[in-house]
Amino acid sequence: MTDKEFVSYLANLIMISKADGSISEEEQAAIAWVYEEINANETDFEEAKRITEKDGYQVTAVGRYSERIRNLEDMIFVALSDNALSDPEKILMRSFAKAIGAKQEQIDTILSEAIARFRAYRATITCSNCGYEIPAAWRFCSECGTGTQAQTV
Ligand SMILES: [Zn+2]
Repeated sequence: MTDKEFVSYLANLIMISKADGSISEEEQAAIAWVYEEINANETDFEEAKRITEKDGYQVTAVGRYSERIRNLEDMIFVALSDNALSDPEKILMRSFAKAIGAKQEQIDTILSEAIARFRAYRATITCSNCGYEIPAAWRFCSECGTGTQAQTV
């Protein structure tokens, strides 16, 4: 995707965050996680925030079809980060899905993939040494440095 497309892609994530109020801390963290995954950066995110502040800004489909589907999945992922999908988030998700031509079956699949991805993102484990709660993907406890189960042998 081009820089301009990255900005619109992230603007869609911001739009769904804002659908039920302002961007929460959890949503902001989830968006940051997504932009690192797609190789966008903070400048793109700042620009995306700026354009969504314009009156009447609408979600915009960008990139190839596969990128649009990914964008929809990321929108759901971000919306899930501060709670279950709210009605305004669902409405925005459905109108975007319709705009990119996703069928109901696909929407259901995307939704369950986003939920699975979100659970993995949010999962935590308890350190066997000190009992500190840390993200499941971490290889070492941030508190005491003990290796976790995720450590490669
Ligand atoms: Zn520990």
